[in-house]
Amino acid sequence: MKIGFIGLGNMGAPMAANLAAAGHEVTGFDMADVSVEGIRMAGSAAEAATGADVVITMLPNGQILRKVADEVIPAMSKGAALVDCSTVDVDSARAVAEKAEAAGLLSVDAPVSGGIGGAAGGTLTFMAGGSEDAFDKAKPLFDIMGQKAVHCGEAGAGQAAKICNNMILGATMIVTCEAFALADKLGLDRQKMFDVVSTSSGYSWSMNAYCPAPGVGPQSPADNDYKPGFAADLMLKDLRLSQQAAESADADTPMGALAQALYARFVEEEDGAGRDFSAMLPRFETRGRDKG
Ligand code: NAD
Repeated sequence: MKIGFIGLGNMGAPMAANLAAAGHEVTGFDMADVSVEGIRMAGSAAEAATGADVVITMLPNGQILRKVADEVIPAMSKGAALVDCSTVDVDSARAVAEKAEAAGLLSVDAPVSGGIGGAAGGTLTFMAGGSEDAFDKAKPLFDIMGQKAVHCGEAGAGQAAKICNNMILGATMIVTCEAFALADKLGLDRQKMFDVVSTSSGYSWSMNAYCPAPGVGPQSPADNDYKPGFAADLMLKDLRLSQQAAESADADTPMGALAQALYARFVEEEDGAGRDFSAMLPRFETRGRDKG
């Protein structure tokens, strides 16, 4: 296929490289001066999109996605597919899908999980929203860039799945970290705590697969001085998107709201910026009870 790829950052560059390595003809564009192996660089987003069967975007946020979509949609041929893999707000995903469909294009919102390692290794999970036809057109590309693609429903459903998952993840990581810090103060050995919880009703992905305590459980960013991994800044972004969506859908999400507030404080007022999101554990370790 002829593929236009817009946004060749930490995630986009390795994803595009994997498509090129699989034999697709990829033309890329990024605002920054980047080069990616196997990819021809275009001078604009519209140029990268011209004549493409599929245009993939991997951009920082919904506002930028809307702007780029306005540039590429008029350049695309009818029947081509616009596939956005960025994590953006549900409203932007739906607005872009509406514009694309009005122009006779297929459209998919397909945010990913799996991080930079998953992008490089071609093991991402795609959560997709859009019509059956649009999903079918993008599926062979998802199969190259990832190991799993779930068609979640109509436009916006992929973004909805992503932010609901990450709202659970953020809140679960916080409570796992605070439980370790409480265990410390109660004199309970961390390894014993892991042995019990990882096989009891408190188990979770945060505890079992990504344990925030160094030297306990599987290898995780905790064993690498909390270098990301999944940065606290990105968790904060996703939690904000979850609360923005909850606001516009009138959903009551008190735990999600608290998780957002704690990550905001951690990243913006404390030392969380640039650290893995599991670095909440050393944060709690050094604190006493919040009397405020
Ligand atoms: P990044 O900042 O490394 O890459 C974004 C790229 O978009 C940059 O290279 C930037 O120059 C480019 N860009 C910005 N505006 C542009 C424009 N108008 N036209 C063309 N290019 C433009 O970010 P990333 O880590 O690659 O993340 C991309 C998306 O994936 C984000 O929405 C993020 O939330 C999501 N995501 C990231 C991770 C992760 O671990 N990094 C995991 C899952 C999802």
